[in-house]
Amino acid sequence: MDECCIISDLLIDYINRNLTREENSRVIQHLSRCKGCFEELKDIIEFRDMLNVQMKEVPDDIKVTAYDKLKQDTQSLTEILESKSPFMAFDILRYALKPV
Ligand SMILES: [Zn+2]
Repeated sequence: MDECCIISDLLIDYINRNLTREENSRVIQHLSRCKGCFEELKDIIEFRDMLNVQMKEVPDDIKVTAYDKLKQDTQSLTEILESKSPFMAFDILRYALKPV
């Protein structure tokens, strides 16, 4: 099976952080050398952001959950920066593209 097809199937789970450690590093490594899959990842994130913008009337309890998630993400940005991994740029881009 084509590596791009395999990665394409994993992208949604990658964004939602549902991958195993092995799958996650496989996706990151593939994205670092495949422009096509990287563009696909950006399209998925942009599409998701578009949906989020449309969700204007959000109940308070969901906002609180989102705020908790945001705090977790802030911590994970620190983790990204401290990891000094060769794929840090991709992790930061992914973080930057995440909706608030
Ligand atoms: Zn690819």
